[in-house]
Amino acid sequence: MAGLSAACSLVDQGATPIILEPTPFPSHKVCGEFFSPECLPQLAKWGITFDHKIDNALFCSQNSSLRFSFSQPAGTMSHLAFDQKLLAYAQNKGAILIPEKVVAVRPNEVQTEKRVIPYSQLFIAAGRLPFFPSKSQPIYLGAKAYFSGLKLKAPLMMFSFSGCYVGITEVEKGVYNVALLSNQKELPTLDQLCAKDEGFRDVFEKGHMLFPSWMVAKIPPFGIRNTPPLPNTFFIGDALSAIPPASGAGLSLTLASGMMAADFALRKDPEGFKKEWKKRHSMRIKTAKLLHHCLLRPALFKTYCHTHHFFPTLNQKLFRLTREPFFYA
Ligand SMILES: Cc1cc2nc3c(=O)[nH]c(=O)nc-3n(C[C@H](O)[C@H](O)[C@H](O)COP(=O)(O)OP(=O)(O)OC[C@H]3O[C@@H](n4cnc5c(N)ncnc54)[C@H](O)[C@@H]3O)c2cc1C
Repeated sequence: MAGLSAACSLVDQGATPIILEPTPFPSHKVCGEFFSPECLPQLAKWGITFDHKIDNALFCSQNSSLRFSFSQPAGTMSHLAFDQKLLAYAQNKGAILIPEKVVAVRPNEVQTEKRVIPYSQLFIAAGRLPFFPSKSQPIYLGAKAYFSGLKLKAPLMMFSFSGCYVGITEVEKGVYNVALLSNQKELPTLDQLCAKDEGFRDVFEKGHMLFPSWMVAKIPPFGIRNTPPLPNTFFIGDALSAIPPASGAGLSLTLASGMMAADFALRKDPEGFKKEWKKRHSMRIKTAKLLHHCLLRPALFKTYCHTHHFFPTLNQKLFRLTREPFFYA
């Protein structure tokens, strides 16, 4: 998505980017598919509007719960639909799609399975590339599946369990995205989670999984990545930095990184981009990690709910601190 965001931004500014993306495209990604409110106006400019809006979220853990109201609505949409729309926008304005996998990157040229393509400015939007071995090993497991027949008490429900949290939202009429992040070696089963929390069990009482099995991904630690030095190259999206899904800000950050990198690329300033991104996001990611650790520990989450009772603006403050300022500029 970061690559498509950069492409849309570049075509808006009169450039003709080449998009390298292996087939099949679009495909499912391990993601809750929640789009934070601040990126919706920009997406509307690219012709992307949301049928499913989210005006509040319910955070739950056994006997504790906390409702959060969004001052502007968020959105939700399946990656399959969203990525296709973003690609269509970029292509209609001149971007070129080459459906090939990148197998090597050298200064000023990219090699795919079939050809060598020279570049003047390169955007790398793929987190794990075999030719750039990552120093940070995965420490989380992420999972996603679609369900039908779920019964939600809010358009977005987040459940905190010991060692994992689960987000549930309706991405299409009658189709629910269930996304999970765990810090354990093995993913818990749905039955195990249902046995731990009555409220969670109620949601799944008549649920039916629409995927043949859970889609699972290994997730590295969150934070700003150390990216290899390559001339005229911009790492964007999760390849540049990753924020915990507890914040619901990942896609918004991903979109912003593509757009911001496009602006810096037109000024031929990759170093300036890196510095600016670090300055803007180090604190944002640290704040999101607080929420992430609370959701991984129900006892901490309970304390958070209790504190929130005395400081009712706490949630709004944390929410603002984890949002992407690019869209407000
Ligand atoms: C469990 C979980 C739930 C989440 N839920 C949310 C949420 O609800 N809301 C939110 O805002 N964020 C969420 N996030 C975060 C969000 O999903 C990511 O930040 C976002 O998807 C990153 O997008 P990206 O473009 O960087 O990477 P990707 O979307 O993974 O794109 C990388 C692209 O690179 C391509 N690629 C890979 N290798 C090559 C190659 N060799 N050559 C060419 N192309 C290649 C891939 O095909 C892919 O299309 C969640 C994350 C997790 C782990």
